Amino acid sequence: MAKTKVKALVIGAKDSKEKDKLVTLFTLEQGKLFVYFRGVKGEKAKLKEAKELFTFAEYVLEEGKYGNIVVEANIIDSFSQLRRDLDKYYEACSILDVLNKTSKESNPFVFIQALKALKAICYEDSPKNYALIKFLILVFENSGYTLNFDTCSGCKSKLTGKKYLNVEYGEIVCANCKQLTSIEISPVVLSALKIFKQTPFEKLKSVKIGGGGEQKALNLLIENFEWRFGCKFFTA
Ligand SMILES: [Zn+2]
Repeated sequence: MAKTKVKALVIGAKDSKEKDKLVTLFTLEQGKLFVYFRGVKGEKAKLKEAKELFTFAEYVLEEGKYGNIVVEANIIDSFSQLRRDLDKYYEACSILDVLNKTSKESNPFVFIQALKALKAICYEDSPKNYALIKFLILVFENSGYTLNFDTCSGCKSKLTGKKYLNVEYGEIVCANCKQLTSIEISPVVLSALKIFKQTPFEKLKSVKIGGGGEQKALNLLIENFEWRFGCKFFTA
């Protein structure tokens, strides 16, 4: 039978029959894939760890009658520490949820950014939700909705006064161009967004955000996400 190898992150899993699991993989090569793990619920099952959420591995798939079956897995990183800290766990779940809802096709850029985000959460002690905020900004950029803080997307004039995010279009506009679907971006949120935009994942832990800016920035990005992708955002 035909076998394929993919590098992938486990982004979802549910029970299938008594001992099987139906797992959602976000693969580097083919985007989202549904695969079966056979008989993996026992304590001694060979592929037990490879089916867990967040696992990054190379999977060997075999085409079966009802879909792809995982026959072999080489774990590259299980990110197991994410399961030992609730805050980290939920933040990482939000990353997986974004992948689940936005990434049907293969997207190497988003794949790599997701790995960087998980690493920052798991190993680099980036403060709560910082990696998630950074990841969302990059996902918007990748789908053509770059947050441009310098120029109004409506009239193209330089943005000097108040700024608004028009969630209908996912773009920043000036006071003259704002519409009913535009949300004012407060100075605290603006400075937070700028910092997140320019700071790489590895440096997030040294970033200082004042005035609860990160939570307000996240709320704005969630609103933007739900408008862009037409689905609810998962938060704990
Ligand atoms: Zn304008």
